[in-house]
Amino acid sequence: MTAQIIDGKAFAATVRGKVAEHVTRLKADHGITPGLAVVLVGEDPASQVYVRSKGKMTVEVGMNSYEHKLPAETSEAELLALIDQLNTDPAVHGILVQLPLPGHLNEDLVINSIDPAKDVDGFHISNVGLLATGQKAMVPCTPLGCLMMLRDYHGSLSGLNAVVIGRSNIVGKPMAQLLLRDSCTVTIAHSRTRDIEEVVRRADIVVAAVGRPEMVKGGWIKPGATIIDVGINRIDAPEKGEGKTRLVGDCDFASCAEVAGAITPVPGGVGPMTIACLLANTLTACSRANGLAEPE
Ligand code: NDP
Repeated sequence: MTAQIIDGKAFAATVRGKVAEHVTRLKADHGITPGLAVVLVGEDPASQVYVRSKGKMTVEVGMNSYEHKLPAETSEAELLALIDQLNTDPAVHGILVQLPLPGHLNEDLVINSIDPAKDVDGFHISNVGLLATGQKAMVPCTPLGCLMMLRDYHGSLSGLNAVVIGRSNIVGKPMAQLLLRDSCTVTIAHSRTRDIEEVVRRADIVVAAVGRPEMVKGGWIKPGATIIDVGINRIDAPEKGEGKTRLVGDCDFASCAEVAGAITPVPGGVGPMTIACLLANTLTACSRANGLAEPE
């Protein structure tokens, strides 16, 4: 293996440490405790795990965590009423509605009912527009975490060729916006991209957000390129025993690490950074709400 491993787990711990320091200062100097409300509708097992770990880490950095677990059959009106209440609650600085929502609920409508100033996921149409026009926005946590790791590794990203694989609203598109803002030359690849291997081979930076286990192979990678693997895919792992599974990314780690200059592992790469950025966004929202200087 030649690639340097970008340790997202360690980086995320550093980010959370800085957030915790700011929270301590906010409490001591201003008597303010940032609060994050997480709304979970239904019993999706993966969502339950995410919500639990978000709640735990929120408390660990000294913030207040407000969990709202609603039954799967919750009506749109009930959910909108809760969001309305959280929008006006001064103790709540960040609101996150865990996706996906049960099918009878209109996700766009629900997300766009969150006060954009409290939209710590950065999915509200206002924040999407602010980011796209280069204005001060709440930036989606996963791409923000990817950008922080890239900046940390490269310093300036200016002029680098970046290929983002995936064009979802939560990862691919905002990632492309952030890389563009940092003056990369950005290409977005997706399921209809022709000759994707050739497209990826031109990249100094590859961000894979596809949801297909180990799709990107070492042979697609330009020697020395940096790979950020966003994918979280659970696959069978018979080598660990019958019925066992393991997590893999969208990149074939073994072959990619032979060619790349640096790569994020799965798990331990992008995942931990996502939650750290959620806490950082909550702190930012709290600082803005109170007219205080924003943390770096
Ligand atoms: P989506 O399913 O919303 O989007 C996947 C994208 O990949 C689409 O744009 C799709 O293209 C594209 N795609 C699918 N197949 C191919 C292919 N064969 N070649 C090229 N592009 C393809 O997924 P998300 O963006 O929500 O998530 C992507 C991955 O990231 C998932 O594994 C998810 O679990 C993970 N994830 C990880 C997070 C973390 O914290 N680490 C947070 C969020 C997501 P098209 O638009 O044409 O269909």
